[in-house]
Order: sequence, then C-alpha cells, then structure tokens
Amino acid sequence: MSEVAIATRIPLHDYAALLGEEEIDELRVLAKPLRGRSIEMINSTAVGGGVAEILNRLLPLAEELELDMRWDVMTGGDDFYNVTKSFHNALHGAPYHPDPKDFEIFLACNERNRARLPLDAEFMIIHDPQPAALIDGRPNGGNHWAWRCHIDLSHPNGVVWNFLDKFVARYEAAMFSSPEFSRNLPIPQYLFYPAIDPLSEKNRDLDANFIAQTLAHYRIDPHRPILTQISRFDRLKDPVGVIRAYRIVKRYFDCQVVLAGGSASDDPEGAVVLQEVLREADGDPDIHVIELPAWAPLEVNALQRASTIVIQKSLREGFGLTVSEALWKKKPVVASAVGGIPVQVIHKHTGLLAHSVEGTAYQIRFLLSHPEIAAKLGEHGHKHVKENFLITQKLKRYMTLFLAMSRGS
Ligand code: UDP
Repeated sequence: MSEVAIATRIPLHDYAALLGEEEIDELRVLAKPLRGRSIEMINSTAVGGGVAEILNRLLPLAEELELDMRWDVMTGGDDFYNVTKSFHNALHGAPYHPDPKDFEIFLACNERNRARLPLDAEFMIIHDPQPAALIDGRPNGGNHWAWRCHIDLSHPNGVVWNFLDKFVARYEAAMFSSPEFSRNLPIPQYLFYPAIDPLSEKNRDLDANFIAQTLAHYRIDPHRPILTQISRFDRLKDPVGVIRAYRIVKRYFDCQVVLAGGSASDDPEGAVVLQEVLREADGDPDIHVIELPAWAPLEVNALQRASTIVIQKSLREGFGLTVSEALWKKKPVVASAVGGIPVQVIHKHTGLLAHSVEGTAYQIRFLLSHPEIAAKLGEHGHKHVKENFLITQKLKRYMTLFLAMSRGS
C-alpha cells in the first residue's frame, strides 16, 4: 500500500474531450508495452509543493492506462529536513557553511529509508536531492533508476553538489526542468517539463458562486483589483518582495494583494517566513495573508480565478507550477525571470517578466492600465500551457523514458 492519498481518477474520455482523441490514443499506444511492469516514484513530501502536486495527478492517470505505478514518500526527522532545506537553498545558490554532521544526517536518513521502502520496481524514479542516496540500495543485477531533479541547478553551491553528484552519476538518467539546469554528468540528461492536470480540482472550471464565496470567506473585495501570489511561505518565493511591489502599485491603483500559502512537510522554514510576511504587511487591510491548509486545491483554484493579475516573484525557481496554473486560467502573469519561469512566461506574449520589486510593480501597473493587453496575454498563456505543460504530455515523456531504458538493458 502506498502511504500517500492519491486523487480520484478522471476517465480518459474526459481528457479526450478536452485535448482530442489523438492525444489519448498516443498515451494508450505507449502504455501497452508497459502494462504489468512496476514503476515506483519516491519523493520527500506527500503534500505541499509542486512535486507532490504532480505525483498526485500522475498516478490516477497512470492507473487509467493500467500502468502499475506507485508512489512512496521517504520519512525523516526535523534534523534531516533542516539539512535538506539548507542543501536546497545552497543548490539554488545560497551561501552554505558545511558541517560534516549534515552529510552524516543525510546519509543515515537515506539508509533508514533504504530499509523501509521497496526499491525493486522495474523503474525507479527518485525525485530531488532528499532521497538521492537511495541509489545505494539498488538491487544487484539491477532495475532501472532515474533521478528527476525539480530544482534550479544552474548555479549550485559546489560543496553540496559535489556531495550529491557522486550519487546522481550512478543513476541511468537524470531529468531536469530546464536546459540550463543540466550538469556535467556521465549519464544521459533529459528535459522534463513539470505539468498541470487541467481536470484536477486545482485547475478545472469553477462555479462563479464558489469563487464569490471564497472571496467573501477571506474578506477580499471582488470590486477592486486583486493581485495574487500562491506559494509556500519560503524566502525564495519572495513574499516580502510581493508586498513591496504592491505598495508601489497602490500609489496609483486602489488594489489588494493576496499572499496565500500552506506548508510542506519537508520545509521547516515556513512558520518563520510567515512571521516576516505579517511584519511587512503591518496590518494593512488590503494585504490578505492567507494560511491555507496543506491540501486546499479548490481554494487555490478559486483565488487564482478571482485574481486580476497573478504574481510569481520568486528569487529562484525550479519551474513554478503556479505559473502554469494561472496561465491555464487565462490570467495575466507577472513573474520573475528565474529558473523555469521564462519557458512558461514568454515576455510580452504569454505574460510579463520582471527582475526586481520595481520592475514587478511597473509591469503590474502596465497591465492594470491596459486590460485588453492583459486579456490577450492570458489567452496566449492558456494556449502555451495546453501545448506544453499538461499532465498527459508528462506521462508520455515518462513512458518514452521507461521504454528507452528497458531497450538499453
Ligand atoms: N500550492 C498549494 N497550496 C499552497 C501553496 C502552493 O496547493 O498553499 C500548490 C500550487 O498550487 C502548486 C504547487 O503547490 O501546484 C507549488 O508548486 P511550485 O512549482 O509553484 O512551487 P514549489 O512549492 O514546488 O517550490
């Protein structure tokens, strides 16, 4: 039994109605030779953050295609998640002061999980740095192991990367969300875009009444512009920067800002960052800081749909699934030109990119005074997501990888 709650299945014909019969036929053709062969996904959190979001939707779709895919989550204590969060920040380029104990904690936790998790599926996909050392448990004679990295590795801290590199190099393949994240590795590297499920509770169409009720519940005024960032309270998402940009815009437009986020079980910094955000908000009634439960897809969907503009002012970003979610909803997006964001936000075509608080404010002001351009960007954004960042394409890519890996063996 997998330990994670998998979302409900959505029949393939619902996807066919939205995406065309051909798209689904391709999925069926690729799935046929893989039926009955085991696939295991392992990551470090069951809820919160983009990886859990994707796996939560990938599994029901795989089940619809009769694939034997399961998902397990590694477990660790606070010491492990403190270490992996500092690895995460360091891999995104933050300073890191190595303590040999960190590496011991990391290795010991991976070893405990090696004893606990099933590592004998034909295809093992290990997500992100936290469980990377599980490769030490690869059975003799071998099954197929691939490492899926969701974070921006373009400027990693050398100490942390040199430590991880030794594990990653022993996988059969590595997958990254942007070409810039690839590393000098002796194994094949593939570009894998993250993806959203257009029919999930997070992204499907919503009744206007539900959206209105959600706004009323959080005391957000539906009659004035709403600027929204949905993100875990993480410094790399720069929620404080969002408030600073809002303050500049507020001099010209009577708008509101919504910062909504839950937490992820593998992120120990959330509570501290939330306090920093509340301090910065300083009681302004037009700054809505909303602490969401870790699993609140309908609320996120409603807040995104109610927004005039969606912001993603990250300082670093693996991909930023929230951007695709907003674009799918035809929202104009103002986002930082970091990590995987520019593949989603093509500047002046599917949204606007910015590089600073002032730049973010400038782009927001531009969109608020040009609603017709904002609407066009949203339309283009929806099309771009439909063509490139949907869960069906993602599963196709996985199935192609499985077939390629099993051919090579
Ligand atoms: N999310 C959510 N509730 C929150 C904050 C985020 O459901 O309170 C979702 C968000 O809608 C998206 C994912 O978590 O699906 C975040 O993925 P992203 O790639 O944007 O960032 P990550 O958290 O993985 O760095």
